[in-house]
Amino acid sequence: MTYIVKLMTGILLVSYLSACSTTEKKADQRLADQSVMAVNWMQQSGEYQAIALQTFRFATSAFQQSVDAGVRSPAVIVDLDETMIDNSAYQAWAAQQQAPFTDKTWSQWTHAEQALAIPGAVDFARYVDSHGGTLFYVSNRSVHDREATIANLRVLGFPGITDQTLLLSTSTSNKQARFDTIHAEGFQVVVYVGDNLNDFGAATWHKNNSERRAFVEKNRAKFGTEFFLLPNPSYGDWESGLSNGYSAMRPSEKLHTRLQALRVWKAPQ
Ligand SMILES: [Mg+2]
Repeated sequence: MTYIVKLMTGILLVSYLSACSTTEKKADQRLADQSVMAVNWMQQSGEYQAIALQTFRFATSAFQQSVDAGVRSPAVIVDLDETMIDNSAYQAWAAQQQAPFTDKTWSQWTHAEQALAIPGAVDFARYVDSHGGTLFYVSNRSVHDREATIANLRVLGFPGITDQTLLLSTSTSNKQARFDTIHAEGFQVVVYVGDNLNDFGAATWHKNNSERRAFVEKNRAKFGTEFFLLPNPSYGDWESGLSNGYSAMRPSEKLHTRLQALRVWKAPQ
């Protein structure tokens, strides 16, 4: 009798775990499906192209105004992914394969050196480089992907890529320490360009969306004058900002969190 009970318990447990694993696999697929429209928009819409162009035009004007005002050693800090270079083909692959982001596939993508330039990014970088500015590329790409990243950037025509100006992630995604080394070298950073609020400093690092929105409100005068943001609806810290602990959640919990975060209209009955 005891043996039969144990056997039945074992069968039930295996069935339960198998059902859980199927549920999580389906949730993972749904998470991937949900990025399709964002990637469609970034790859296909003229609207995305126009926003990128207008952002870099305004950033160019802000940089030039600083030069005209006599700022000494003016510098510009730019992020790379979804700021200067377009990795949407990787996001598209992940959506098509219904595969979650992994360090392994991301590294394979970076080593393929197939990122494209964001519209307006190369012209902006060249303008800064040829008008007395120093451009710092501060990215959370891994130092292990450094050579492939340099090769990709050079093929696209980005100027001034050196050991001093390309600052990748060594131990933390918080960029503040790298920004501080630029300041310590005597540069005056007049423009920041990014697709993530964390590209402007430490204030929003590991913060939730309510805190991130408060940062924007507090610094609203800097947006469009010193901080320039490109849209990225396909990924970013705004996603993990949906809830505390989001990154460690199971796929089904992430799906639930995304739905819970919606501000919903109550239709009349
Ligand atoms: Mg980025």
